[in-house]
Amino acid sequence: MKSPKLVLIGSLGVLASAAKSSLSPRGNACAALAASLPGDVSYPNTTAYIQSSYYWSDQQRETHPQCFVTPRTTSAVSSVIQILTRHNAPFTVKSGGHSPFAGGSSIANGVTIDLVHLNTIEVSADCKTVSLGPGNRWINVTEILDPLGLAVVGGRDMNVGVSGFILGGGISFFSGMKGWACDNVRGFEIVLASGNVVYASPTENADLYWALRGGGGLNFGIVTRFDLAAFEQGTMWVNSLTFPGTENATIISLFQNLTIQGMPQDPAAHALLTFSSSPSGENRAIVNLFHATVPSPQNSVPAVFEPFQTLPSALANTSSVGDVSKYLKHYATPYGGRWTWGNVILAANFSQTVLDEILAHWEERNAALINSGVADTSVLVQAIPVNVIEEMQKNGGNALGFKPSGGPLVLVSFPTSWTDPRNDKLVEDSTRKLIADVETTAKKYGVLNPFVYLNYADSNQPVQRSYGDENYDRLKQIARKYDPQSKLAQLWTGYFKL
Ligand SMILES: Cc1cc2nc3c(=O)[nH]c(=O)nc-3n(C[C@H](O)[C@H](O)[C@H](O)COP(=O)(O)OP(=O)(O)OC[C@H]3O[C@@H](n4cnc5c(N)ncnc54)[C@H](O)[C@@H]3O)c2cc1C
Repeated sequence: MKSPKLVLIGSLGVLASAAKSSLSPRGNACAALAASLPGDVSYPNTTAYIQSSYYWSDQQRETHPQCFVTPRTTSAVSSVIQILTRHNAPFTVKSGGHSPFAGGSSIANGVTIDLVHLNTIEVSADCKTVSLGPGNRWINVTEILDPLGLAVVGGRDMNVGVSGFILGGGISFFSGMKGWACDNVRGFEIVLASGNVVYASPTENADLYWALRGGGGLNFGIVTRFDLAAFEQGTMWVNSLTFPGTENATIISLFQNLTIQGMPQDPAAHALLTFSSSPSGENRAIVNLFHATVPSPQNSVPAVFEPFQTLPSALANTSSVGDVSKYLKHYATPYGGRWTWGNVILAANFSQTVLDEILAHWEERNAALINSGVADTSVLVQAIPVNVIEEMQKNGGNALGFKPSGGPLVLVSFPTSWTDPRNDKLVEDSTRKLIADVETTAKKYGVLNPFVYLNYADSNQPVQRSYGDENYDRLKQIARKYDPQSKLAQLWTGYFKL
């Protein structure tokens, strides 16, 4: 992991003078926050400010607030929200800081509420519920739960924050057995725009509970505690295979079979497929297979994954077992770099022609980017099998709108990273064109599902509208009910707003 201290120092002098000279409501808001929460408001050029400025992507780190406020209790969060709404001060909220876009959980000149100190982790006496403060990252959670033989449906990267991950959906190693993370929240403690603290669960404020499962946190309030369903979990089995790009057709067909038939028969199975390219033109298909239980004997392969093992062309094939924390560390994407992504959902039974056209769009874009020195692009394919969609129906269903009758799906996303800010427009425009081209292809062959997954969306994708008119209207009504003056809509900046 890169040091946070090295990143921002060059630009902080300018920011300090900007902050001091301001007499705006925002400046007054920082002063009012400092008076209410002494020691928990930081300004540019201080260690606390630099620590709070530590985000995963460069675009977020470069977006500087006038001050950070770091509340330590739910009632302090309530005071913060009341002060900010009284001052009409634009603000945002940061949990793990892993949304990639400038302004995702950062704000230029406003106030950033950094939840870092709200990091409690409590396991209930019966071991059925784990309560998480919203400032936790997933590694903090798994390092407590692994030794207890417990797990929750959580992140696959150690540094991702619990809040954004859960509120957007949350695809986990354990989704086959339990659904996405949002489907496994027993209840949310949340501070509303009024400063009132309420609990949302299947039996209390059930409409808000529904909305918080996929509707995007910034539309409803600041969640100050997630009560998650826990379950028994020992070591996992993981297998990584690399194939030459010439095998793409075979690999995608095996992945489709796994999604449509294999996973529903064995919900402990989970898989990721990545198509990568290199400047030298050496394309690869990388298959990562996960099983929540270890096969017996340990050096065997779970039956559901056997078809991948018989291919003679694998360039690498490694298996291991370990606890959840081991794989959160292994699959962590390092901090730094500029990032964009976006996603398209397809019916899982798409034809080889569709894959060929999608990869052709991607390679056409790669050629343009590589000429400009942007080399790191990939296509990430993830399964949404029917067993996952069935789990999404529990507790009254979530806001995402998937139904088992819609059949199995795959989520295709396009993570791209680069370093030179002069390439921002080139990459962002090309990402949008790639998404549009892939959607056009999918529509042409009748395999486009309109859903856009919030956690992997490009900043201009119409996430909540993609949940369908009925769910979108319901989300809007719930937001209005809990924030009748639309204070959050006016003041909380970021993605993805209703
Ligand atoms: C390296 C990497 C790996 C990832 N792996 C996965 C994965 O395995 N599965 C998956 O589904 N997604 C994954 N994601 C996507 C990730 O879930 C989203 O980017 C998510 O938003 C990150 O959450 P965060 O808390 O770190 O983000 P932040 O940027 O801190 O917050 C995201 C959004 O949530 C809001 N917010 C933050 N805290 C609260 C709160 N307490 N109450 C209300 N709103 C709040 C913020 O204002 C912002 O709008 C990954 C992302 C990265 C960069």
